[in-house]
Amino acid sequence: MKTASNDQPSTHWLARPFVGLALFVVCIGLAAVFLPRQQSEYAMLFTVVSISWFGVIVLWEWYQGRYANGRKTSLDWQLFGISLTWITFVERPLIFVAVWGLCYLLIPQHIGAWQYLQQDYFWGLLLAYVLIDELLHGGVHFFAHTRRVKNRWLAKLQSYYKATHRMHHLHGGTDDKGQLSATQTICVSWGWPSSLPNYWFGSFFTYMGLFEVWAVGALAKSLWGIHNHANLDYDRKLLAHPNSIVRNIMLVLCHILVFPNQHHEHHSRSQNSAKNMQNFIAIYDWLLWKTFVVSTTRPKIYGWRQKGAERDNAFYRFFHRDFK
Ligand SMILES: [Zn+2]
Ligand SMILES: [Zn+2]
Repeated sequence: MKTASNDQPSTHWLARPFVGLALFVVCIGLAAVFLPRQQSEYAMLFTVVSISWFGVIVLWEWYQGRYANGRKTSLDWQLFGISLTWITFVERPLIFVAVWGLCYLLIPQHIGAWQYLQQDYFWGLLLAYVLIDELLHGGVHFFAHTRRVKNRWLAKLQSYYKATHRMHHLHGGTDDKGQLSATQTICVSWGWPSSLPNYWFGSFFTYMGLFEVWAVGALAKSLWGIHNHANLDYDRKLLAHPNSIVRNIMLVLCHILVFPNQHHEHHSRSQNSAKNMQNFIAIYDWLLWKTFVVSTTRPKIYGWRQKGAERDNAFYRFFHRDFK
């Protein structure tokens, strides 16, 4: 990735506050006019439960002293505020409106067509939803981390993913004392949520009437992902437990679900940063991407090396990107 050419904040037009404010107003307006009440209620439920879970884990991390001594910086907090506001009020409503609008145009007769299936096949549909959502998410994340592809157009697309994903791997200060914490889950720069096919897929599920399946599946994924980013080490202790039965059970579980030790390795500054692409279902890392790694020790250094203005300017980090 190319280094920012100077240390000045980005002057990109999208970085100007009035653009963000205008987008905010437009998105809220579009969502209020075009999204049905049921969609808005489930989206609200998703947001309230996720934020409450953030609250519980943040209090625990704070109580345990996991923010002290440079483990978390004020910039990390600022980016949490910016990212959470943006994804909640701009990008996620925009994706819902776009998908619902497209479906109204293309398949108006199918609105709510699968709703009746929820009664009899809820758990099967939920499993299918989670497995497909995770596969789509993991696939794009793998593409963002993997070696640059040869095809010219695919390479351009990959540059977009690489540049847009970068911010998620920037946390802590330049003293390398930073560690991972729950709030980093949502710290992604603008354009990343819209580039995730699983968000579009989830919105399509709601158009087809599978509101409950989406709400439970998306929440399970969200709550589990927040727990994976949290500064927890119970799983490392179980992986290194003196009793071999406990160790082996934990190791088996790590092959099925992603635990904090795995996602913390993904956020390390090491070879393992290109491992563990999933944030919920580890089976894909293990069998499909071949990127499965577990660890009984904490990464020595967290977060990628920061360059130029991204070291100390939250808006620059959020809005700027280098596609080269
Ligand atoms: Zn990543
Ligand atoms: Zn992460």
